[in-house]
Amino acid sequence: MCNCCGYKMDTMPLSLREWKCPSCHSVSDRDTNAARNIRDMGLADSLGHSDCIKSSTVGSPVSAGSTSERC
Ligand SMILES: [Zn+2]
Repeated sequence: MCNCCGYKMDTMPLSLREWKCPSCHSVSDRDTNAARNIRDMGLADSLGHSDCIKSSTVGSPVSAGSTSERC
């Protein structure tokens, strides 16, 4: 899943270390992107908003504090 815009890739080869999001065209390191997704989900869980994440929040920041990291 793109950490920038929330776009979800159907397939992701394990050999792929960097990938370009077809939606927002940001290039992400696979591990960094995954770590950010996990962190954001953890933040959402602690705030009690995990349902918002799971039901797709394309285009909307997960939390106000991380807005500057996004595109
Ligand atoms: Zn994206």
